[in-house]
Amino acid sequence: MTTTGSGILNTSSASREELVRQLTTRSPRDRNLLFRQAYQEKRKLVGNVTYLRGLIEISNICRKDCLYCGIRKSNHKVERYAIDPKEVLELAMFAWRKEYGSVVIQSGERTDREFIETITGIIKEIKKNTNNEMGITLSCGEQTEDTYRQWFEAGAHRYLLRIESSSEELFNSIHPGDGRHLFRDRMTALEILRKLGYQTGTGVMIGLPGQTAEHLADDLLFFRDFGIDMIGMGPYVPHQDTPLGILDMDSIPSPGDRLELSLRMIALARILLKDINIAASTALQALDPDGRIKAILAGANVYMPNLTPENMAKNYFLYDGKPLAKDQAQATVKELETRLKSLGETIGYGKWGDSKHYFKRFSLIPPLLEEKGRGGEVNSIPTGPGGEVKN
Ligand code: SAH
Repeated sequence: MTTTGSGILNTSSASREELVRQLTTRSPRDRNLLFRQAYQEKRKLVGNVTYLRGLIEISNICRKDCLYCGIRKSNHKVERYAIDPKEVLELAMFAWRKEYGSVVIQSGERTDREFIETITGIIKEIKKNTNNEMGITLSCGEQTEDTYRQWFEAGAHRYLLRIESSSEELFNSIHPGDGRHLFRDRMTALEILRKLGYQTGTGVMIGLPGQTAEHLADDLLFFRDFGIDMIGMGPYVPHQDTPLGILDMDSIPSPGDRLELSLRMIALARILLKDINIAASTALQALDPDGRIKAILAGANVYMPNLTPENMAKNYFLYDGKPLAKDQAQATVKELETRLKSLGETIGYGKWGDSKHYFKRFSLIPPLLEEKGRGGEVNSIPTGPGGEVKN
């Protein structure tokens, strides 16, 4: 193990072995040092601010059949829904009034023209009705370059597409081999998103059947080498109406171990990837009511209160025990605020809270967008090669 003066993990040259050791150590001392180092790095690199993204799960209609996912096409037990675009706008306006700064538009995967145009319309309406003040992240699966471009031009500026696992073999073991779930396609989609100028986010599920600490270490190295701007990752939580969910529980780590592994992954990602945005994922909360605070203390800086109306959210169970929904959103934010305050942390109300990493990446390339938020703070973005970035 390489040690540094300030922490136990050498941030610039962490090896696969070192990451595996950090993920598997049973030493309470090393574990505490890891979390302490990650939290210090977070405070230093992205500050003591947690940014909000109101999560709107606009539809559970999906053409994919991922073996782990509760809204997979073959799950006939879920009632399929699509929120009316007018209602989506109202939810976004609620987020705007509450100064959440951003929304995440998430859905099952569809690639038909009607869906593409609906999303475009929603993005434009949100932008128009909030004086461009609302940040918009999309999480709508694999799409063509033209579709991604159309949504970017409409005003979306971040995109979250999880690679699920950076190991092609593991990826194949959790997806059907029907030619519609190709590792290569997912990787290409991520590359297109990055090329188009999105703040590009990815992530993995943690504690999958057949997943080893080596796989997870490779995931971290993949995030670093790809130059990812944001991460949303969390524990795998079995869903009983899926092929993977009915496997013996012995085939995956215990809930406590999956939680611990997920927190260590967040800590290691913070140390290794420095100034990226990391979400305290919803799935963490399914395993521990305190999951999101623990994630923030491990290095996360984004929290996504769920704005999906309760009658729809009940059909958006990706996994068992997923928390509901709009009526609780504001209460969870207020509770989070109180908890954060006592830890010397704050909430970035009204701010987009863009990934600092992204702006560094673009400091040598002409800008494609402007970071803005409510409350007057407009950051200057590079205006051309070598232009100045101020964060
Ligand atoms: N269709 C979109 C977004 C919806 S799924 C997409 O594919 O990107 C969003 C994420 O939920 C997935 O990427 C997956 O990582 C996560 N997820 C699905 N089922 C899960 C489960 N059983 N446990 C934990 N996370 C799950």
